[in-house]
Amino acid sequence: MKVTVDTGSCVSSGQCVLLAPETFDQNEDDGTVVLLAAEPPAGEQDAVRQAELTCPAAAIRVSGS
Ligand code: SF4
Repeated sequence: MKVTVDTGSCVSSGQCVLLAPETFDQNEDDGTVVLLAAEPPAGEQDAVRQAELTCPAAAIRVSGS
């Protein structure tokens, strides 16, 4: 699994961080998403897919299995 984020689209809602805290973080200044792991740990991959689906800005893209 590979993950990319579009910080320009991110609206700093934080859902992704709540769902998958080993993969996503938020910028301390403006709350925009920070990608911690472009290849998420196995135990967090379902949560990363959930984050892709629930991100209000469609700023998360997941590819591969
Ligand atoms: S869920 Fe989407 S909009 Fe919210 S912080 Fe994460 S990437 Fe940004």
